[in-house]
Amino acid sequence: MNGSHLSVVVDLSPSQWHLSSLHQPYPLDLGSFVSQLLAFLNAHIASRHENSLAVFGAFPGKSVLLYSSANPPAETPSSDANSFPSFKMVDSTMMHNIVQQLDSLNQDSVEEAPSALVGALTKSLCYINRLTLEFNASTANATEGLEPLTLSDPRILILSVSPDQTASYIPVMNSIFSAQKLKVTIDACQIYGPETVFLQQAAHLTGGSYIYLERRDALLQYLTMTFLPPPSVRHTISVPTQDKIDFRAACFCHKNIVDVGFVCSVCLSIFCQPVPVCSTCRTKFPIKTLQRLNAARPSLPLASASQSRNPSAPSTPMKTDGRASATPFRSGETPLGPGGLPHSGNINVNGTPHTNGAKNGLGSSG
Ligand SMILES: [Zn+2]
Ligand SMILES: [Zn+2]
Repeated sequence: MNGSHLSVVVDLSPSQWHLSSLHQPYPLDLGSFVSQLLAFLNAHIASRHENSLAVFGAFPGKSVLLYSSANPPAETPSSDANSFPSFKMVDSTMMHNIVQQLDSLNQDSVEEAPSALVGALTKSLCYINRLTLEFNASTANATEGLEPLTLSDPRILILSVSPDQTASYIPVMNSIFSAQKLKVTIDACQIYGPETVFLQQAAHLTGGSYIYLERRDALLQYLTMTFLPPPSVRHTISVPTQDKIDFRAACFCHKNIVDVGFVCSVCLSIFCQPVPVCSTCRTKFPIKTLQRLNAARPSLPLASASQSRNPSAPSTPMKTDGRASATPFRSGETPLGPGGLPHSGNINVNGTPHTNGAKNGLGSSG
């Protein structure tokens, strides 16, 4: 049996880590975070000889590969009788690269760029895709023209300290769909800062775990108990998962997270108000529809922002009926579709263009 692959995306925003070190209760600074992270990475390597590892750092405005077990550094660290060489290789390479990247940040810039979490996530998906291609090239399937195989249990763990950047909604959703296609499980741990809507959705839609760290002094325990077991064994050991998921989406026009949105029935773009022309696919909507939608715009009650996990809800947002999409949705409730059949809240809303509803103009429903 093959080992499992783990890619870790680490948010290394200096300003967020500074805030985290001051936060009461349970302050956690970057130094103690990195030492607990290294212990977790060593545990992954030690679990099985064939396990592979890649670590991507998200720094302000750039993402960097910090360690890869497929391309270990050329010069090996001096051997030490008291440490296992594989552990020492990971620890010294990681520390060297993190220090180098943090030193090279521009100290003069007044405002820190948001950390490039999505860039790091995309790179980790590309990395897993490359491993999958290499793995396939080494099997008989490639020569016999059979279906390509997928890696066993590839997964990505995102360790975040930054709040959601609403501008990254579309890239995050696209990453989620790539992960689903590659059969990659995305786990996420929000170590500091507010709950993140997008990481919750990423974990939920790929079958991973999302943990909001409340006891930050117990980081290593959370990491080993929740994220160390590969997905294939998790159903037997019952790892913690979130009981509430925030399914809200960000509108494409202002990048705001919206409770009630309007969806283009052709390309499924989301808008915070009815628009005459879809800015994504240029579809024009009849003026009568706009008037009707504007008249029907609900006055916003204080709808709860999150929706309890509903086991009967579809686990993927792709199963959507284009006709239903002209209906304004509100998170946390189940509106009626045009045929009178309930469809599940706004879970059907996502940022991926697809053509299910191509024959249904905005005006054709209802
Ligand atoms: Zn908007
Ligand atoms: Zn459109």
